Amino acid sequence: MDYRQTSLDRAEELKGRISDYLSATKKIPKGLELQEEYDKSKSKILKLLGASESDWNDYKWQLSNRITDVKVLSKIINLTDQEIKSIMKIQEEYRWAISPYYLSLIDPNDRYDPIKLMSVPLNLEISILDGKDDPMNEKGTNPAGSITRRYPDRLIINTTNECAMYCRFCQRRRNIGEVDKHRSKKVIQESIDYIRSNKEIRDVLITGGDPLTIPDDLLEWIVSQLHEIKHLDYIRIGTRTPVTMPQRITDKLVNMLKKYHPIYINTHFNHPKEITQQSKEACERIANAGIPIGNQAVLLNGVNNDKHVMKCLNQQLLKIRVRPYYIFQAKHVKGTEHFVTSIDDGLDIMEHLRGYTSGMAVPTYIVNAPGGLGKTPILPQYLISRGKNTVKIRTWEGKVLNIKNKPTEDIKKNL
Ligand SMILES: *Cc1c(COP(=O)(O)O)cnc(C)c1O
Repeated sequence: MDYRQTSLDRAEELKGRISDYLSATKKIPKGLELQEEYDKSKSKILKLLGASESDWNDYKWQLSNRITDVKVLSKIINLTDQEIKSIMKIQEEYRWAISPYYLSLIDPNDRYDPIKLMSVPLNLEISILDGKDDPMNEKGTNPAGSITRRYPDRLIINTTNECAMYCRFCQRRRNIGEVDKHRSKKVIQESIDYIRSNKEIRDVLITGGDPLTIPDDLLEWIVSQLHEIKHLDYIRIGTRTPVTMPQRITDKLVNMLKKYHPIYINTHFNHPKEITQQSKEACERIANAGIPIGNQAVLLNGVNNDKHVMKCLNQQLLKIRVRPYYIFQAKHVKGTEHFVTSIDDGLDIMEHLRGYTSGMAVPTYIVNAPGGLGKTPILPQYLISRGKNTVKIRTWEGKVLNIKNKPTEDIKKNL
């Protein structure tokens, strides 16, 4: 047998398995290649708002200068009269706000730009009436303070309803309301006290809104108290600021956080256009402080429900030291139903990740069981059948094989 020839033939076959991706990925817009366009929009926005470069780099300026007026918005991106009319109508029901930074990522001439779809109100928010306000029943899983407890050993604390940008597909849009409001110290204290007195809790997730919209001193007040609780193994923070307002990730912030290790951050990139030089620097600053960063993407119709886009996203994330963690099936939240894809779209994406790219780039695809019954992983079928002595499997390329299966024996018995 000519092993070298066999190996060369197999290598050719493997090249064939990614040729479609390699040609498709060239056409996917990537933030790291669009810096010039982004800088042009940034200059336009700075001029319009009468602000300076140092304002731009200050997250407090970004937060207090979020765009909330359609007249201002229409001076930066091209909107049809119809779009302007429907934004004015939607904002009576659902608030919107976009950080100047995130706005600079929108291609002003692309009606279907993915960043625009995620941040600018669409008429479908009020024309489709399906979905519920609270499909996850967060109200019915709230034992104390602002806690949601859905699992035996971990829970989330909601700290604020404020975000740098209000995602049009937000699962907690019922909390966004009319004004930004951090949870009171009293409610947060009540949540921390609950954790202190329930010793089986070993993992706490600080969430919102976006918990990094709260000031450093308040955040430190929360994190330092949690750090003192002996039965907590680590603290997690869920934030979209590395994507929507990377200026928030300052040296001061990460130097504060790293006093309370182990800390983990999960962020939320949905499209390769969001991975920019600025978000890369923010993620590197987090990683350099010894904080591992994961990504929780949401599968969104028209944004990323495409096997090539999702693969490209996950590969780009690893380049900026972010490890893909979850892809969520979008939930049936009222006003966001148009973003919900079929589960088949999610399965098709998963099918084309495993084997085709690094395991590092393969997150878990999760469907949340309605009513707060928990995250449920969904995979294409690799296990075809289970017999007594054999198991039939299917490989990533679709090759079907029987593999031997035998009962586990006590290893100590025959020693
Ligand atoms: C998502 C979630 C968690 C964390 O789940 P992991 O699978 O551990 O990341 C914890 N509590 C609630 C209520 C959640 O929704």
